[in-house]
Amino acid sequence: MKKHAIIPIFIPHEGCPNDCVFCNQKKITARTHAEENVNIEEIASRYLSTLSDPRPETIEMAMYGGSFTGIPMEKQNEYLSIAKEYKDKGLIDKIHLSTRPDYINEEILLNLKKFDVDVIELGVQSFDDEVLMLSERGHDSSIVYKSCEMIKNFGFTLGIQLMVGLPGDTPEKAVYSAKETVKIGPQIARIYPTIVIEDTKLLDMYRQGSYLPLSLEEAVDTSKKMYSILFEAGIKIIRVGLKSSDIINEDGEIYGNTFHPAFRQLVEGEIAKEKIEVLINDLSNIEAPSKIALVSNSRSFSNMIGMKGVNKKYFKEKYPLYSFFYEKNEQLKDYEYEVQLIR
Ligand code: SF4
Repeated sequence: MKKHAIIPIFIPHEGCPNDCVFCNQKKITARTHAEENVNIEEIASRYLSTLSDPRPETIEMAMYGGSFTGIPMEKQNEYLSIAKEYKDKGLIDKIHLSTRPDYINEEILLNLKKFDVDVIELGVQSFDDEVLMLSERGHDSSIVYKSCEMIKNFGFTLGIQLMVGLPGDTPEKAVYSAKETVKIGPQIARIYPTIVIEDTKLLDMYRQGSYLPLSLEEAVDTSKKMYSILFEAGIKIIRVGLKSSDIINEDGEIYGNTFHPAFRQLVEGEIAKEKIEVLINDLSNIEAPSKIALVSNSRSFSNMIGMKGVNKKYFKEKYPLYSFFYEKNEQLKDYEYEVQLIR
């Protein structure tokens, strides 16, 4: 049974007068008419009709896309009152929205409380002021700390979205952003590699040679470091990488190599490889040739094997004197791996 279902409501660009260099909101929201009204009821009833019986434990209505709290208050209230009605009727359990750090103030938060909103995600992207400036975010990092504190004090669940590979970003700055996120202590986080798409300033910068996208390997490597920092701090990482449905992808409008449809699995596979290698090297009294069992639960098994068996291949080539066997043990937690010497 599906435990958690999300009804995604894409709110178009109307909420955001900004023009961050990487953003083409129309493409990201896969919509073309910014002025179009969003028919929440129609979308919600369509999604709800596809859900299995018994219903998932949690159903969230999530307003994605633009910067929700930048929409005129009247419009926000129109959307929120529909969401609240669904919540009051028990058709959904949570109302979730995303916005910019500088579109948070007491009046806005009081209003969101009135409509029983549960989760507020902030598109923070980076804690480095130079990265924010070069990405034309229109605010610096100081507002992020302030907004996050207010959101937490109001009792909302806080989410932080971070990006990898923006203009001026470095692996060190990305790691710093992850560490600052941990200090703030949101309950949830997302990590997105920067993707160069049509109709963005970033594409102009890329064409002029003033912006060089990360390679896929670099994006995975930095995301892996950020992921590990957030994960170890107990922050739930609800998304790593964009889904193809987030972008209109049919006519090859993505530049560079940072987009991968299974980006999360690449990152989690790399982390599994690292953890397992430490365990292999920790084995004492090992005499080659030896048989070694690598173990995980079924949910983490594909991470242990790696995308298209890349980890299997790696271990086989790096340790030719060992024979590796891949096993499942449901007693292990997710992302927990064991290495056992087979006598
Ligand atoms: S604030 Fe968000 S929606 Fe607005 S331009 Fe920037 S990324 Fe796009």
